[in-house]
Amino acid sequence: MDSLLGIENLSTFFHTDDGVVKSVRNVDLNIHRGETLGLVGESGCGKSVTALSAMRLIPQPPGRFESGRILFKGQDLLSLSESEMEKIRGNDISMIFQEPMAIVCKPMLLIADEPTTALDATIQAQILELLVALREQTRMAILLITHNLGIIAQFADRVAVMYSGKIVEEAPVISLFESPSHPYTQGLLNSLPQGEPGEKLEPIPGTVPHPAYLPGGCAFHPRCPEAMPHCQEKIPPTINLENKKDHKIACWLFDDPSAES
Ligand code: SF4
Repeated sequence: MDSLLGIENLSTFFHTDDGVVKSVRNVDLNIHRGETLGLVGESGCGKSVTALSAMRLIPQPPGRFESGRILFKGQDLLSLSESEMEKIRGNDISMIFQEPMAIVCKPMLLIADEPTTALDATIQAQILELLVALREQTRMAILLITHNLGIIAQFADRVAVMYSGKIVEEAPVISLFESPSHPYTQGLLNSLPQGEPGEKLEPIPGTVPHPAYLPGGCAFHPRCPEAMPHCQEKIPPTINLENKKDHKIACWLFDDPSAES
């Protein structure tokens, strides 16, 4: 499949009086023509900053691209002038900012950031069906940002789960819902209502850490039911899950920390 947008090793930090806010850390993502990639995670996990980075809409300062490339049709957007970026924004890449208003120019890539949060269920479904119809007609790619895994299950082809600025699991939607493997993904799914009468939801304990004060090692370790001593010391690398096509994970449950330098 053709890669339309390739984000490679992207880190976007904000240098503030309170310290360095590490909103996006070494993120790799690919979006192909005609597909919908869902990006999920709790508020403050870096989803919107990833999207704003892809549009080069990060105010600099205090923001800064610390590393990486953002390749759109093979061209690194970080190397373009502001006037060159303005031609791309709105024509080739469009963004819906948390309310639907703006799918008029049939872009090649639409970034939809919580497009239905403020809407009732019927309008939500209509908006998402409109996006899907447009995608079919124009082979538009969609980066669908939401905290709602139900919407992802219904409308996305692949999904990336983000926590504290990092992608912790990425997979085709069916693979992720059939075998969620990262403890954070499992926690997100367990916290979803299943529609059973009298059911008790199981929220993930604790809160998302402030991105200026991230814990060492795996940033999820203070909340993780599977945490091991080395999880506090080393950031797990991203690896492919064995026997699972295109299913990637960053968790020490699936790798040997002693093999790392
Ligand atoms: Fe939990 Fe450790 Fe995996 Fe992080 S690396 S999700 S703390 S088991």
